[in-house]
Amino acid sequence: MASTPAVSEDLLAKYEPVIGLEVHVQLLTASKIFCSCSTRFGDPPNTNVCPVCLGLPGALPVLNRKAVEFAALAAMALECRINEVSIFARKSYFYPDLPKGYQISQYDKPLAEFGFIEIDLSASRINGGKKKIGITRLHLEEDAGKSLHEGFADAAHKTAIDLNRTGVPLAEIVSEPDMRSPEEAYGYLTRLKEIILYTGVSDCNMEEGSLRCDANISVRPRGQKEFGTKTEVKNVNSFRFIKQALEYEIERHIGIIEAGGSITQETRLYNANEGKTHGMRSKEQAHDYRYFPEPDLLPLVVDKKWQAAIRASLPELPQARRQRMTKEYGITAGDAHTLTLTRALADQFESAARTAKNPKRVANLVQSELLGRLKAQGLELEQSPISMAGVTASADLVESGAISGKMLKDLYDLCFERGQDFPAVYEAEGRPEQSRDTSALEKLADELIAANPKQAEQYRAGKKNMIGFFVGQVMKASKGQANPQLVNEVLTKKLEG
Ligand SMILES: [Zn+2]
Repeated sequence: MASTPAVSEDLLAKYEPVIGLEVHVQLLTASKIFCSCSTRFGDPPNTNVCPVCLGLPGALPVLNRKAVEFAALAAMALECRINEVSIFARKSYFYPDLPKGYQISQYDKPLAEFGFIEIDLSASRINGGKKKIGITRLHLEEDAGKSLHEGFADAAHKTAIDLNRTGVPLAEIVSEPDMRSPEEAYGYLTRLKEIILYTGVSDCNMEEGSLRCDANISVRPRGQKEFGTKTEVKNVNSFRFIKQALEYEIERHIGIIEAGGSITQETRLYNANEGKTHGMRSKEQAHDYRYFPEPDLLPLVVDKKWQAAIRASLPELPQARRQRMTKEYGITAGDAHTLTLTRALADQFESAARTAKNPKRVANLVQSELLGRLKAQGLELEQSPISMAGVTASADLVESGAISGKMLKDLYDLCFERGQDFPAVYEAEGRPEQSRDTSALEKLADELIAANPKQAEQYRAGKKNMIGFFVGQVMKASKGQANPQLVNEVLTKKLEG
């Protein structure tokens, strides 16, 4: 839990937070951005290096075409405009894991600009609970190496450098300072990650550093136009911690301002164990980096033709897909949301829904019976013993009344126990069917009709939808075990007989 300086609700309400986020996403190319070294994660330190990424004198960078295409695809998914000409620049700073003494990035002419992400504000009804967060720019750059403080001999008093990561391609995505609460920042990050995952240009794995986030935060009295002085919280490794770090910073800023102090512009680190941020260094200004155009690389030209080719590979994105799926399959917005959480799940659901007799039933089964069991066993969708074809087959059996919901649950349990798909288990169990023996049902129907003469009379007087009342009673009495179709038949016969 975040431990926060005590600031009263009244004081919190007096100030408006202003938040902007910078997200680094590692692009899933096989080789680095300016050389042919592998980008594979987890290889022994300093095994994927060459004169270019080590920054040896005279080595020349050559731009990786795939990195450009991935970054442009991400930019398009974020509704950015692609600049036909963009320029690589040297960003100079000293750090032990940056052998060249500068990072090749993009500065005043980035690859893409002027995008946005729409987030849901479930608690708010303003604009239908939606808010657009502007994206200032998306640019390409190379990653730096990594300082290691553990996992090797002498780690207690030495730091080691691993340069495997040096030169791995990154897309940096900079938002406008449009967010007004830690919840909005959380919503932005969640949506951003979801969109990037759909494009397939990054695995967004935070533990492996494929997605990193820095947050800029300031507060100002509500109604004031000018921004307050901001601080930057760097390298927080989960969305939840970013939210907590922002909550902490907001209260810290307000506490200082209320006490008559002023905020120092600086970079801070969040300590998740303490739930606090700590000052790391005063924040650099852009001019400290001495940006200038990279003399070893030509301007990057992504012309209209190339842009069109990249755009052709843009998949249907999560929000559009949700809207289409609710219409196409008659499922709820909530169902569509769960079923599109990953592109793989959405693809699989749709392949099943298109062939099933009732897509809605497939949606319910996937969510309540399949995902629940997978989660309980800690399995990923790809590891599911029940394929989507199996889900379709089972949904159709319930739909036709051949098996009951309870029988389906039991069969699914067997599938997970045996690690076998539904059709195989269904066959092995001798194609079980729910009972069509009507004697018990008829007895139940007689009793219910006798116990509810008024409703029976209304039915006989022409109020045919009264059948629903009796079906409901029978289903309840049978604890959901009875076959609804059969119940209907028996009741109709009894009431009309
Ligand atoms: Zn290299």
